[in-house]
Amino acid sequence: MTPEEFREHGKRVVDWIADYLASIESRPVRSQAKPGDVRAALPEHPPEEGEPFDAVLADLDRAILPGLTHWQHPSFFAYFPANASGPAVLGDLLSSGLGVQGMVWATSPACTELESLVVDWFAELLGLPAHFRTDSRGGGVIQDTASSASLVAMLAALRRAGGQGQRRTVYVSSQTHSSLEKAGRIAGLADGDVRAVDVDEHTLELDPGQLDRLIAEDLAAGAVPAMVCATVGTTSTTAIDPVRRIGEVCRARGVWLHVDAAYAGVSAVCPELRWINDGVAEYADSYVTNPHKWLLTNFDCSVLWLADRAPMIEALSILPEYLRNSASSSGEVIDYRDWQIPLGRRFRALKLWSVLRYYGARGLREHVRGGIALAGEFAELVAADSRFELREHHPFGLVCFRPLWPGLSTVDANAATLALLERLNDSGELYLSHTKVGEHVLLRMAIGAPTTEARHVRAAWTAIQEHLDFA
Ligand SMILES: *Cc1c(COP(=O)(O)O)cnc(C)c1O
Repeated sequence: MTPEEFREHGKRVVDWIADYLASIESRPVRSQAKPGDVRAALPEHPPEEGEPFDAVLADLDRAILPGLTHWQHPSFFAYFPANASGPAVLGDLLSSGLGVQGMVWATSPACTELESLVVDWFAELLGLPAHFRTDSRGGGVIQDTASSASLVAMLAALRRAGGQGQRRTVYVSSQTHSSLEKAGRIAGLADGDVRAVDVDEHTLELDPGQLDRLIAEDLAAGAVPAMVCATVGTTSTTAIDPVRRIGEVCRARGVWLHVDAAYAGVSAVCPELRWINDGVAEYADSYVTNPHKWLLTNFDCSVLWLADRAPMIEALSILPEYLRNSASSSGEVIDYRDWQIPLGRRFRALKLWSVLRYYGARGLREHVRGGIALAGEFAELVAADSRFELREHHPFGLVCFRPLWPGLSTVDANAATLALLERLNDSGELYLSHTKVGEHVLLRMAIGAPTTEARHVRAAWTAIQEHLDFA
């Protein structure tokens, strides 16, 4: 494809995306495809001769769109949002167009230096401590996902803890994201050595007292406690672990504190939410949050910061001859290959840079506050209907609630709630997900798409009430 042909097709692709976004509301939110439908609509074998690019676009409309769940739909309320935005998509397109491979500074200095700048900007926007900046002992890096970021943090923590050949332990809670358990497996820990600390039955916060007792027990048994993961905004209900008190335990025991704020961390762009960073400056050895959830930056873009980058680089740096270069040897540059699992890396900073510049701090705050306000409005609607129980929610975009189903046992009530959820999602009008807290299945209404307005939230509530009436 020549540059001139690219120009022509590229314009059509941008038009296609704009049309898609403009008409997204008319589509069912959740794909109604059955297993195998998409594949059956496509040729079994690859083409021998090249096809015109338009044929790809035609198949996109015909075969792919019906098999999509529309994550950018204003009535998508499942999981957490995966915001995309114009500036992010365009930044990503620029990154693709440049086709740069930023594994070390020397392979494209701007790729590394823009990334360092953007993660420093972002730390400032979130009110994170100065020692997370790349011009200090610590530094930030853009990863594909929080899962990778937590794995990198764990490898650094294990490095710092030492004790190779001994039993090494990591501490999480029942509410911690599953990626931590997975990271433990990848890092070679035995299954039982990712230890689950109790949580408060009501708040679901990790219990720092029990954490300390478990660590003491493990130390007495000859284990090497390496890392504790505290979560700010758990995936299930956005519970917030007491980071400061957990940090005090970590400090006293010499254990690495990783803070997983994948979803909620970005909300600290709003000064009134900075309290969610309490304890981070004093105690966190690493911290991760995902612009690719709530902050208008399409997947993938997760930012990991470290208070001290040395243990990570010791854990991950291997220097083969073919990557030796004078810039790296000078020690004056960052080589981000040592801050992640793969060698190769995309120029992701371009999209985060586009987003931060296009919206500015003020635009980002407005976006986050808008989602929080709509969640508050939804919670009031639920609270006003005695057929539902509302779970007290944190000031983010997630509201958890359940129908009460008078007269049904807990098991039957849970089944009825799940059946209601299926009916709602089958309707195509909205998309919700669920979780389980204690014995109860709860519905999760996660608000935060840039196109979601009060009318979408009210329509969702009406649909929920109507489907309950028919139950
Ligand atoms: C979503 C989420 C993750 C996983 O994020 P990925 O970027 O998809 O790996 C981890 N932790 C928490 C608390 C999350 O909500």
